[in-house]
Amino acid sequence: MIWALVNNEKIEATPGARGTCPICNGKLLSKCGAVIVWHWAHFKDENCDSWYEPESFWHKHWKMTFGKENAEIGIEKEGKRHIADIRTVQNVIIELQNSPISMPVIKEREDFYGERMLWLINGEDFKKNLSVKDYWEDEDYLELKSLPRPPVRWVRRSEEIKKEANGEFFYWKSPRKSWANVQRHLFIDFGEDSLFLVQGGMGTSQIRGVYISKEKFIRKYGGDYEYYRQNLIDK
Ligand SMILES: [Zn+2]
Repeated sequence: MIWALVNNEKIEATPGARGTCPICNGKLLSKCGAVIVWHWAHFKDENCDSWYEPESFWHKHWKMTFGKENAEIGIEKEGKRHIADIRTVQNVIIELQNSPISMPVIKEREDFYGERMLWLINGEDFKKNLSVKDYWEDEDYLELKSLPRPPVRWVRRSEEIKKEANGEFFYWKSPRKSWANVQRHLFIDFGEDSLFLVQGGMGTSQIRGVYISKEKFIRKYGGDYEYYRQNLIDK
């Protein structure tokens, strides 16, 4: 976690500090090393959220952009408790995902947070596997036709589809298949000025979507774009 409660205030970790978990009230120790993002950890590595993912600079940067009052929010539902990465002022949950995640956990998280959630995933590690490709001019065309995914309507002339969808197509080598049944809007952060909003084919070798500027995204959900831009961290 980036923030612990210290004297009832959300405070960032500093060396040697102690705090309380705002979600479970457990004791937290600060973890402040040279190469890790400074964060808080529960004693004995017992995290109160089974979906916990190690903090990264990428996580922290996004959380800070939306402000500590809107980040790391405990949500309780039907006896279960989880920590939403970001809950915007409009009550939209933004789930940040940096590492690979299994299909059942994706579904669990979507069910838990409901329809007012979206995914923001870090594409830094797999962007090298994406390339723009015109399937229709090479042998992939036949292979494509026999696949259950993407939907049949994709198997048409590429120019027509591009016009219709007004989006970008990528060929995704070794796609992260666990995302294939994602049900919520999903944005990929490739570390550029825009996010890629996936419109189809997530988790398959043909992915389609449009670019949305980060400025527009952040402003729409009540974040601080100036903060985001000024604090881009050199990873
Ligand atoms: Zn806790």
